[in-house]
Amino acid sequence: MSEVRTRIAPSPTGDPHVGTAYIALFNLCFARQHGGSFILRIEDTDQVRSTRQSEADILSALKWLGLNWDEGPDKGGKFGPYRQSERSEIYRQHVDILLEKGHAFHCFCSAERLESLRRQQMADKQTPGYDGYCLHLSQAEIDDKLSRNIPHVIRMKKPESGQCVVKDMLRDDVAIDWHQIDMQVLMKSDGLPTYHLANVVDDHLMQITHVIRGEEWINSAPKHLLLYEYFGWEAPQLCHMPLLRNTDKSKLSKRKNPTSIGYYQRMGYLPEAVGNYLGMMGWSMPDERELFSLDEMIKEFDINRVSLGGPVFDTEKLDWLNGRYLREKLSDDEFIQRFSQWALRPAMLQAIVPLIKQRVERFTDIAPLAAFFFSGMPQISEESFSHKKISTDEAKKILQFIAWELETLEAWHRDRIESVLMQLAEKMELKIRDFLFPVFIAIAGTSVSTSVIDSIAVLGLDIVRARLRHAIEVLGGVSKKQAKNLEKEYQELLRD
Ligand code: GLU
Repeated sequence: MSEVRTRIAPSPTGDPHVGTAYIALFNLCFARQHGGSFILRIEDTDQVRSTRQSEADILSALKWLGLNWDEGPDKGGKFGPYRQSERSEIYRQHVDILLEKGHAFHCFCSAERLESLRRQQMADKQTPGYDGYCLHLSQAEIDDKLSRNIPHVIRMKKPESGQCVVKDMLRDDVAIDWHQIDMQVLMKSDGLPTYHLANVVDDHLMQITHVIRGEEWINSAPKHLLLYEYFGWEAPQLCHMPLLRNTDKSKLSKRKNPTSIGYYQRMGYLPEAVGNYLGMMGWSMPDERELFSLDEMIKEFDINRVSLGGPVFDTEKLDWLNGRYLREKLSDDEFIQRFSQWALRPAMLQAIVPLIKQRVERFTDIAPLAAFFFSGMPQISEESFSHKKISTDEAKKILQFIAWELETLEAWHRDRIESVLMQLAEKMELKIRDFLFPVFIAIAGTSVSTSVIDSIAVLGLDIVRARLRHAIEVLGGVSKKQAKNLEKEYQELLRD
């Protein structure tokens, strides 16, 4: 058998997600166990949402967890470049192959036509999808439209009837009717590929033998398998891993659970404990032992022991495991070393010192002032929010609105945060001092602290989000009905 090659293929469009690390871990274990290679490929075909910052953060988060790859954009390798934005020419050539073989076609339909088609299909209770309008254009018609530069995409053809059978390493064969599958766009009007084309072409050219990825991609498998067939390539083996879940079994979401690896790093978890915990997601050691290292996991790894019942990512269980690592795995010297490494992170200190330097007379003043930058949730109660002018309901509303506002920020910059908060206070017709009071309590646990806007900027969105959520809970939480009303009020505010 050829060398086993697996990959993780993140799209750099946000904070490094624990789900990415989980899938990376299983790919790494599978590759290592077979003496194969593990590849990192950046899928940045979405030019609007992809950023280099996100890519750098993903790489450093995976490194922090010790999930090291053999080939990737930072390392190179025989099959580079490993960033899809640098491979446009390759995709263009491959689209041409499909066009020549008659497996793909030009589609000149306008966005308006596609939208009204979709509406009609919804009204008729049909599966929405392309109706094949451009399938039968003659070559002369196509040439004419191309010469007039009419915007177009390239779509793949698909069988009109029958079924696609998806073989998965963890499941029985799944049969999906072709009529449920859309004539997927392979190349967008800007000449860039979609995920489906780029993913298949790269997996083939990078000689990936096993595609281990999240369950959410299983519905794309028929399109991918068809593309392999069209190109005349052998498809890799597919393995769709169960999705991580919140404790209420819904799909893991940052609204309910911190999902960014940076959050766990900043909150003082050990990377080996987080990695160990991810290894317990749908998998266990043969002897059911709960503490195991990456090397031990690789040694005992067996993908067939992945269980498909949705694994729950429970931060309380992670706390427990991390506690065991701190107590059982670290000598006092190691503890000191690891703690100082964490507490004296240069980036954190550089951000905090300008905020506190002006306010201290001795080093002993630092700890009380800066404690909330290093602690978990502030110790607060409903009384902490009592204020002459802001009722607790109003405080809750302010915190919820801020949480929503901060989610929409494209870049996490102090000045942006400030202007967003100022505008919100104005819209809510509140004096900035009063408006910021509950924010101080939620973020710093006290109203006498360094500027709350600076603090928000330093702490980062995931910790701020968690603290806002915690404060809202302390204030009695928001029921579904209240959330609906708040949402309505918030939308009205935005319209004003
Ligand atoms: N870029 C996709 C993602 O962000 C990769 C999916 C796959 O592994 O095929 O998850």
